[in-house]
Amino acid sequence: MPSCYKCGKHIPRGKGLRRKVYTGSSYGMSRSVGNRGKNPRKTAGYRRYYGMRTICNECTGSRLTLVEIVVLTVVGIVLYQIFI
Ligand SMILES: [Zn+2]
Repeated sequence: MPSCYKCGKHIPRGKGLRRKVYTGSSYGMSRSVGNRGKNPRKTAGYRRYYGMRTICNECTGSRLTLVEIVVLTVVGIVLYQIFI
């Protein structure tokens, strides 16, 4: 039985959605060969990886996860303490 990528809840058969979700990032160099092996280009960059994951209906409805809500609340309280 599949489970939700975000909240870990088991998804009943036929429910849930396949969504493209952010799975990680990396910084690195890659070489791509140009025309007929000439002018190989080096590209450096920050890459983001996305993968297809199964997410339950509740998680597709709200973009914020429980962890994100908690973090935002804590940040809000800290900022409130600083400025008051
Ligand atoms: Zn979920």
